[in-house]
Amino acid sequence: MTGGTDHPDFRGGCQCGAVRYRVSAGPAKDCLCHCRMCQRATGNAFAPLIEVPATRITWTGTPAEWASSDLATRGFCATCGTPVYYRSGDTVEIMAGTLVPGLVVFAPQVHSASESRVDWLDRLPGMPDAPTPPGIAARIHSHQSPES
Ligand SMILES: [Zn+2]
Ligand SMILES: [Zn+2]
Repeated sequence: MTGGTDHPDFRGGCQCGAVRYRVSAGPAKDCLCHCRMCQRATGNAFAPLIEVPATRITWTGTPAEWASSDLATRGFCATCGTPVYYRSGDTVEIMAGTLVPGLVVFAPQVHSASESRVDWLDRLPGMPDAPTPPGIAARIHSHQSPES
């Protein structure tokens, strides 16, 4: 991997906590990938990815993997289904939505596969905010694992 910015140690994991990771400090490349495979793999408009060498990652639990092409594998939690990474060769791209908040600043530098970018992203800045009403959050009992 060449280029990128220096990230401190960070960690994260899936919703249920069965798959967790720690990434040691060093250079990383942050991007948004708009390719059709990332859209389908995340069920979202794009994948927010932090690219690091596989050797810098320590896993707790065993991610399930699916070879989405002859070049790459998608890692996810077999229990809760959270997409956790994209792996190609010795490089892993962590899904930034799985990061424990506050440990690292995700700073995407590029729109990868921009030819597949959905057009409604351009309308987001003008959309009104609708915060969760205070009473709703208090009534929800989350099954997610604690983030720490
Ligand atoms: Zn899980
Ligand atoms: Zn992609």
